[in-house]
Amino acid sequence: MQKPIHTLARIIARRIADEGGKYFELLFEVAEAAPYLPGQYLNVVLDGQRRSFSIVNLPEELPRIELLIERIPGGIASRYLAEAPLLSSVEIVYPFGRLVPQAENAEHHILVGTGSGIASLRPIAEWLIRNTNHSIQLLWGLRYRQNLFWQDWLERLQSSRANVSVMVTLTQPDKEWSGFRGRVTEHVGALRLGEKAAVYLCGGKPMLDDMRQLLKAAGVPSAQILTEQFHL
Ligand SMILES: Cc1cc2nc3c(=O)[nH]c(=O)nc-3n(C[C@H](O)[C@H](O)[C@H](O)COP(=O)(O)OP(=O)(O)OC[C@H]3O[C@@H](n4cnc5c(N)ncnc54)[C@H](O)[C@@H]3O)c2cc1C
Repeated sequence: MQKPIHTLARIIARRIADEGGKYFELLFEVAEAAPYLPGQYLNVVLDGQRRSFSIVNLPEELPRIELLIERIPGGIASRYLAEAPLLSSVEIVYPFGRLVPQAENAEHHILVGTGSGIASLRPIAEWLIRNTNHSIQLLWGLRYRQNLFWQDWLERLQSSRANVSVMVTLTQPDKEWSGFRGRVTEHVGALRLGEKAAVYLCGGKPMLDDMRQLLKAAGVPSAQILTEQFHL
């Protein structure tokens, strides 16, 4: 794997991602391009403190790097990145992370994320679509419908191949919502767990803990489960 490098990233575009304004997309142009793997992340360095963000786009697009950021109330980095002037630069260190496609060990890929956790699952799914004919199940959980984003991409992914399926579940859906309901953990029964499956989990600690327990009870060996914990 590539050794992490320090470099500067210039903010070249920013866009609110969801109707509720909880998430935004940020486009960086980096001074030094370091090859990374789909699913890896970078650290933004602010006043000596580091905050991690997954790289949404594939390495072919370097020196452009796309991020998807949740606004955290009182969050130093998410606020800075939401407000910093366009064309200003920030120090980053990258790449890091082991949540990357397991194409040699698996033929079925189960991607489960909550909230901004989709940011590290999207490049893994994209890479698998472009480089394999493996089957993919993506299960993404959010609270409200107004926080949904990337619907176009989700639709494209769903219709890309017969062996790809996308499930979006809301814990607090409105009356009009016709998709899945409840936490991602309530939909484990819909996942095709088996010998040739790799499971990628990405989100907060409670989801990861609960999913690990359910997967273990279903007989999935821990070697087949990869996780990235975004926060406590
Ligand atoms: C490997 C990795 C990849 C990540 N990728 C992304 C990504 O692509 N996009 C993204 O938005 N986030 C991502 N995160 C999460 C992000 O690093 C944290 O949310 C980070 O704390 C945000 O920094 P901040 O300075 O804005 O908030 P901080 O100043 O760090 O946090 C302020 C307060 O909010 C709490 N907090 C932090 N995050 C959350 C949260 N999500 N929910 C509830 N409370 C929280 C903290 O514990 C603290 O009390 C990733 C984390 C890791 C470890």
